[in-house]
Amino acid sequence: MLQISNLSKTYPNGVHALKNVSLNIGNGMFGLLGPNGAGKSSLMRTIATLQDADSGTIMFGDIDVTKNKAELRKVLGYLPQEFGVYPNVSAEEMLHYIARLKGVVNDGERKELVKALLEQVNLYQHRNKYLAGYSGGMKQRFGIAQALIGSPKLIIVDEPTAGLDPAERLRFNNLLSEIGENIVIILSTHIVDDVSELCNDMAIIANGQVMQQGHPEKLTEALNDKIWAKRIRKDEVAAYQDKYKVILSRLSSGQVMVYVNSDMDPGNGFASVKPTLEDIYFSNIA
Ligand code: ADP
Repeated sequence: MLQISNLSKTYPNGVHALKNVSLNIGNGMFGLLGPNGAGKSSLMRTIATLQDADSGTIMFGDIDVTKNKAELRKVLGYLPQEFGVYPNVSAEEMLHYIARLKGVVNDGERKELVKALLEQVNLYQHRNKYLAGYSGGMKQRFGIAQALIGSPKLIIVDEPTAGLDPAERLRFNNLLSEIGENIVIILSTHIVDDVSELCNDMAIIANGQVMQQGHPEKLTEALNDKIWAKRIRKDEVAAYQDKYKVILSRLSSGQVMVYVNSDMDPGNGFASVKPTLEDIYFSNIA
C-alpha cells in the first residue's frame, strides 16, 4: 500500500504544483487523471524519489520514502514522461546494461531475463535495432521492459500513451494490463479512456489538488440523472455557457453537443444522458 499524506510543493518560480495531496493506493492499476499542468509529473517524480516535496509524507509499506530513498528505489520501476535521448545502442544491449546496473550480475540469469522481457513487450524480433530508430510505441514498450527489471513492487508510468497512434496505444495498454495485479502500478495520464480501460481505482487531480478518488464506475454513478445533453449550433455555444453549467462541448457532424451538469431538468430541449468518466473528469477540472 502506498500512502501519500499532505504532500505540498512550490517550485522556486512560485508555482504551487502540489497542494496538500493525500492518496491511498493499493495493489492493481491506479489511474491518476488530470489535464496538462495539473501536477501529475510533480507527484510522480516525488514518489519516484527524484525530487523532494516541501512537506508531507509518502509511505510504501513500511518504507518511509522521503527518508529512505535507496530502499524505495530497490522496489521501483519507473517510466518517466521524458526518457531523454535514445542512444545508438540496441534494445538488447541497453537492457543488459540496465540489468547490470540493477544488480543482475550473473550472465546466464541476465540473458534469460533480457530475453523474457523482450518477448513480454513484443520487441524480441527488434532486439538488435538501435533504440534511436524505434517508433514511439516501441520506445514506450522498451520503457516498460526496463521498468520491469528487478521485479519491482511499485511501477510508475507517467503519460505513457501521449503521442502514440491508436494502434500503438492499444498495444501499449494491453501490455500494461498484463503486468500483474500483485503490485502497485500508477498510470498518470490526461487521457480519460486510458483510465476507463485499465484502472479499478483512480483519482482526478487539477491545479495541484486531488478532486476525487474512487472506482471509476462509482465516481460516474454519482452523476446519475445529472448530465444533460443537447445538439446546438456552433454560434450558440457562448450563450449556453453563460446560461448553463456546461462541462463539455463536442463537435458532432458539424454541430455541437453540449453537456451540462444540473440537478434538475434544464428544459429547453435537453435530454438526460448516462454519465461517463469523461463527464466526471470535465466536471472536476472545469
Ligand atoms: P502535469 O504532469 O500534470 O502536466 P506538472 O507536474 O508537470 O504537471 O506541472 C505542474 C505545474 O508545475 C505546472 O504549472 C508546471 O509548469 C510547473 N512545473 C513543473 N515542473 C517545474 C519546475 N521544475 N520548475 C518550475 N515549475 C514547474
